[in-house]
Amino acid sequence: MPENHATPKIIAVVNQKGGVGKTTTAINLATALAATDRKTLMVDLDPQGNASTGLGIGQKERANSIYDVLVGSAALDDVIVGTDVPKLMVAPANVDLAGAELELIDHPRRSHQLKDALEDLVHTHEADPYDYILIDCPPSLNLLTLNALTSADSVLVPLQCEFFALEGLSLLLRTIKRVQDGLNPDLTMEGVVLTMYDGRNNLARQVQEDVRDYLGDQVFETVIPRNIRLSEAPGYGMPALIFDHRCAGSTAYIALASELLRRNNRLQAA
Ligand code: ATP
Ligand code: MG
Repeated sequence: MPENHATPKIIAVVNQKGGVGKTTTAINLATALAATDRKTLMVDLDPQGNASTGLGIGQKERANSIYDVLVGSAALDDVIVGTDVPKLMVAPANVDLAGAELELIDHPRRSHQLKDALEDLVHTHEADPYDYILIDCPPSLNLLTLNALTSADSVLVPLQCEFFALEGLSLLLRTIKRVQDGLNPDLTMEGVVLTMYDGRNNLARQVQEDVRDYLGDQVFETVIPRNIRLSEAPGYGMPALIFDHRCAGSTAYIALASELLRRNNRLQAA
């Protein structure tokens, strides 16, 4: 796929397990992509709104949110706000989103609400298209995550190297397969990225080996280390890449973005 085409690449950042680094990965990968001049949109699809908070979006700026888009009362383009990072925009979330699932329960296109909204957005931005759209999902395989999987071109799975990681991963892969068999046959695997890695920990090393044996080159070579700066940055409403671009975590996310671009054959155009 050549760059600067009218269709953005849409990547859902998914893992039903909580606290594995989805939001940290989504924020810093989006920032790294924007820093390489790719027009990037973060869709915050988690009622916790962590991606919005981590990008410095205050509650006032979330009066119109992704909830309004999903229930059909606003266009996606109308809820998007800018961030302090040039080329990086966000469709923010607030707690309203927790009610969306129930409100959509009888809607015939309940799994396609986000897909329809993204198609409208692509149409609106034909002259100045987004290059990448990252969707930060909640820690659940619920209707919100299903909307993400229905809309996405690919799935990026942050995985923490701990005891139950592989069990959780196989459930997720089964869900992705079900979506490929039905709602979204074109969905592909962007890859699994190991997060919060501590090489001094024997279990982490063993899990890394198992995951690489099991999934081969679907696992990114880049590993995100456990790094305190990554956890401090959201408190300042900043991506770690802006907060401290030299820390080990930021360096790893820059490497992850390069690897992703390389895998997408898009690096030459950089
Ligand atoms: P949730 O499932 O609740 O949405 P999540 O999967 O999005 O969580 P994050 O919010 O990104 O996970 O990370 C969970 C916690 O771990 C956060 O406090 C975050 O700052 C911290 N964290 C994430 N990645 C790292 C890392 N590589 N090193 C140290 N801390 C990290
Ligand atoms: Mg999160």
